[in-house]
Amino acid sequence: MPAPVPSLETHPLATGALRRASILYTDLDGTLLGPGARLLSDAAGAPSLITAEAVVALNRAGLDCVVCSGRNRWQLMEVSRLLGWDAYIAEVGCVIVPGRGQAPIYYTGSWGPDAIREGETPYEAITRVGSLRVLQREFPGLIEEHAPWHLNREATHVLRGNVPLADAQAALDTLELPVRIVDNGIINPPRHTLRGVTEVHAYHLIPDGVHKSDAIERDLARRGLKRADALAIGDSATDVEMADAVALGVLVANALDDARVVEAAATRDNVAVTRRERGEGWAELASAWLRARGGDQS
Ligand SMILES: [Mg+2]
Repeated sequence: MPAPVPSLETHPLATGALRRASILYTDLDGTLLGPGARLLSDAAGAPSLITAEAVVALNRAGLDCVVCSGRNRWQLMEVSRLLGWDAYIAEVGCVIVPGRGQAPIYYTGSWGPDAIREGETPYEAITRVGSLRVLQREFPGLIEEHAPWHLNREATHVLRGNVPLADAQAALDTLELPVRIVDNGIINPPRHTLRGVTEVHAYHLIPDGVHKSDAIERDLARRGLKRADALAIGDSATDVEMADAVALGVLVANALDDARVVEAAATRDNVAVTRRERGEGWAELASAWLRARGGDQS
């Protein structure tokens, strides 16, 4: 059984990391946002300002927040504008937008220069080599596109379902391009056409070699910042990897519902968990961060 994840309050690295950090990389769904992707709600979905007030407090303190999500860049552009944030990292680290109005930087990991044909996006290359076809053949009824969020993507596919990850990866390994499947956590889609699936996960198909942590490293380097200057918060196994690029990786409490998250956290010594779930956990981190820096605690 994996070791329990230390709490944010008791983690030995927390106070030092929070005192120094000036930037937070944050996941959205299941982390900053409540059920139904609501910002203006508590972790149970009831109307609440708790998370919004935490965002305002960090903005007022001049601390940077960068959304780092599986969503596409058009979605992140709108969310970041609403929250008063600037840069964002979309599609699980494959699309980095350094600031408002700036062109996206694509990152395709280990893919060689010939992986993408002329005029093709990485998203289209993943389709061309048969990734979706092979998964739906191997796991009929257990995986499908995560409509409507599968639209307007440039580098990765987003799917939903419940499949054994190692077997799914083995199926993808038969294709001509290296494509990795990653589990982006438990979701509750209002509609799907899966058969016999009770716990639905979001999955991404991404160019092999891409991690959210790589994108964070690139963004920090661009800013002239170091690992010690950064924090991350999330709720999925993919998000735990963000800890590899920052001083402290924080999980909101609901992240521990997923055994894969607990296993991933147990292999790292710089991961802590909040007491509360979703946006309430996010607000807990914001409050601890401001307190450690000696500023506003609201
Ligand atoms: Mg999430």
